[in-house]
Amino acid sequence: MAEVKYIFVTGGVTSSLGKGILSASLAKLLQARGYSVTIQKLDPYINVDPGTLNPYEHGECFVTIDGAETDLDLGHYERFLNVPTSQANNVTTGRIYQSVIEKERRGDYLGKTVQVIPHITDEIKRRIKLVGSGNKFDIVITEIGGTVGDIESLPYIESVRQLKWEMGAQNCLVIHLTLVPYLPATGESKTKPTQHSVKDLLEEGIQPDILVLRTQRSLSRDVKRKVALFCNVDENAVVETIDVSTIYEVPLNMLSEKLDQTVLKKLGLPVGEEPALTEWKEFLTRLKNPKHSVKVGLVGKYIELPDAYKSICESFIHAGSLNECEVQLVLVHSEDITEKNVSEKLKGLNGILVAPGFGARGIEGKISAARFARENNIPYFGICLGMQCAVVEFARNVLKLEDAHSTEIDHKTKNPVIDLMEEQKSIIDKGGTMRLGAYKCIISKNSKAFEAYKRTEIIERHRHRYEFNNRYFDDFRQNGMIPVGINPESNLVEIMEIAGHKWFVGVQFHPEYSSTVINPHPLFVQFIKACIEK
Ligand code: GLN
Repeated sequence: MAEVKYIFVTGGVTSSLGKGILSASLAKLLQARGYSVTIQKLDPYINVDPGTLNPYEHGECFVTIDGAETDLDLGHYERFLNVPTSQANNVTTGRIYQSVIEKERRGDYLGKTVQVIPHITDEIKRRIKLVGSGNKFDIVITEIGGTVGDIESLPYIESVRQLKWEMGAQNCLVIHLTLVPYLPATGESKTKPTQHSVKDLLEEGIQPDILVLRTQRSLSRDVKRKVALFCNVDENAVVETIDVSTIYEVPLNMLSEKLDQTVLKKLGLPVGEEPALTEWKEFLTRLKNPKHSVKVGLVGKYIELPDAYKSICESFIHAGSLNECEVQLVLVHSEDITEKNVSEKLKGLNGILVAPGFGARGIEGKISAARFARENNIPYFGICLGMQCAVVEFARNVLKLEDAHSTEIDHKTKNPVIDLMEEQKSIIDKGGTMRLGAYKCIISKNSKAFEAYKRTEIIERHRHRYEFNNRYFDDFRQNGMIPVGINPESNLVEIMEIAGHKWFVGVQFHPEYSSTVINPHPLFVQFIKACIEK
């Protein structure tokens, strides 16, 4: 088995240039050329994971099959590669320090002063090599979060410098993504910020091998040549990434810039045949030439920042393309919805999705949205808290349990139709303690869920503390809200549907985490189908 090759992706000038999408796009091309690739994200913040971060701070928290709460970039990696990631694919400074401090307490460093170099950098290097171990991958792409020059990212850059020295040029590459701004006043694309950020990298000991220039306008050969000359890289190793209408186009742009070929040649790997991208291109063709169009309301409390619902938004793109349907997402703030104005706020929608979430803010708006969908036969998709709200609504308005609620919001309610899971009752710590990751669910045959999955046994990812209270199981079933998906080990209700409704499905799990370009999630696909029919 040949040695694993490592590619590091750093960012310069500013954040949000799209390192995650660049990494995923390059990985896609290498995968399409027959290589097995994985992507890792190193995050320089001190939280152990993003699980306790407010979505306003950091966007969505993505959950892996093995139950890790991770950066949303891992979602992009999975959606592009169609290969699951795991805890090892996301490492934060908090996690690095936690391991080092645990070792120190155990006495592993007895007698030594524990320092950033070598102890922290060694732990970073160990974590990087860990993803590549086990002969599973030919190439590991590691994305370094933050921007070069940040204090927080210094130990990561130093670790990359050391790895480059240890592994040698043929086994380790650094790709630096920077910005080339366009100045309308002079009509020029400016390379100075790029030159400065490469200088920052050089100061930290790294000569980048490839530069990817993010730009609004196509760059002339002269501009690229100038960058190559002043930044000391090969001329063909300066490529541009131009703003596009969908992130799923970036792999094709990188293909025409020959980024994959440049990478493979530098790593001494055969370029081989043209990459196999037929399915990917078909997906894009369908996406750009829709035959239908639907308006779907996404009801949530973080809608000011759509990144908070990243995987849901992307799942709609996948399912939309499969249905040859343009999905116009209408973001509706749950705090703006009341029982009185709900029909006004949700007017003209072909379907309603109530988003996951935590806490009381906006909850009554979500409950009203569920009622509106149920009473007006509008396709409804409730995810996690969205399912719980539908349950509370049904209890209040159909079962006439007027004070019904989730004990997350009202711990004194006499009708706790949603209640804390038994095993959660003794848990005090907030980090990493929810019911997380993949669990089984058995589906009844006579259900919308079965129509979608076409099987009775599924596995889906979770992230919650509260559950449907099985004390009310028969009441709900007899009155038309049917638990059609159950976890076989715990009897926990996983899917609720309303009998006789056009399409009303609430799920305790998160289908959005497992939708990919090649495998759009069946529930999203069926939901969009129902919206089209509506
Ligand atoms: N807050 C709810 C719970 O903990 C729902 C969580 C979610 O929507 N992810 O059960």
